[in-house]
Amino acid sequence: MHKDDQAKITLFCINCNKEVPHTVDYIGNYLRAVECKDCGKRIEIDRRHLRTVFAEDFINRILTKPHRMTEDMKKAVVTLMPFFPKRLLREPLTVLKEIYEVLKKEKNS
Ligand SMILES: [Zn+2]
Repeated sequence: MHKDDQAKITLFCINCNKEVPHTVDYIGNYLRAVECKDCGKRIEIDRRHLRTVFAEDFINRILTKPHRMTEDMKKAVVTLMPFFPKRLLREPLTVLKEIYEVLKKEKNS
């Protein structure tokens, strides 16, 4: 994986009940998933779900990869946290495979 596709950020993990380092994954320029480095809890971001709550412009703005991880980035993730689907907790391997497939496509295009 290209290093630009992953970033590290300290966030509050509901599972660990404390602030711990997280890995942030991107697909293209968009925030895709956040994973706790401590307990491994991984949260995928579903744009379709977000569209039911937020305007498209807002989603694009908060999910677009910043040049650096900033406080704004943290705020965006915290804002989105209640909207993350639970699917990844039920079938993490399937979802990881899907993410990998999408990342492969991004690289080839
Ligand atoms: Zn955790």
